[in-house]
Amino acid sequence: MHELSITESILKQSLTEAKKNRAKIIKKIKLLVGEATSIVPDCVRFYFDTLKQETIAKDAILEIETKPLVIRCPKCKTQFKDLDLTCNCQAGIEIVSGQELMIESLEIE
Ligand SMILES: [Zn+2]
Repeated sequence: MHELSITESILKQSLTEAKKNRAKIIKKIKLLVGEATSIVPDCVRFYFDTLKQETIAKDAILEIETKPLVIRCPKCKTQFKDLDLTCNCQAGIEIVSGQELMIESLEIE
């Protein structure tokens, strides 16, 4: 159910933004979702299609771009794509990308 509240907040943000710009319709919402967020894009799409009815986003297309998880050693700055891979520094890890959850762009009219 995690995706439902996320989708609600995305739609709310989009509607607020559209209102600020005096838009009449929202044509497209582009979303950036990091792999590490464990959000299922298909779920978000499903809820979005239900929630958007009765709003100015009812014909909007939801485009979801997923960002892969990239982690890095804070010491030698080597980047890894898998938590099982590590260097020999034993310095822990830093997350470079993969935790995004944001509206990248909004097409309004
Ligand atoms: Zn290292």
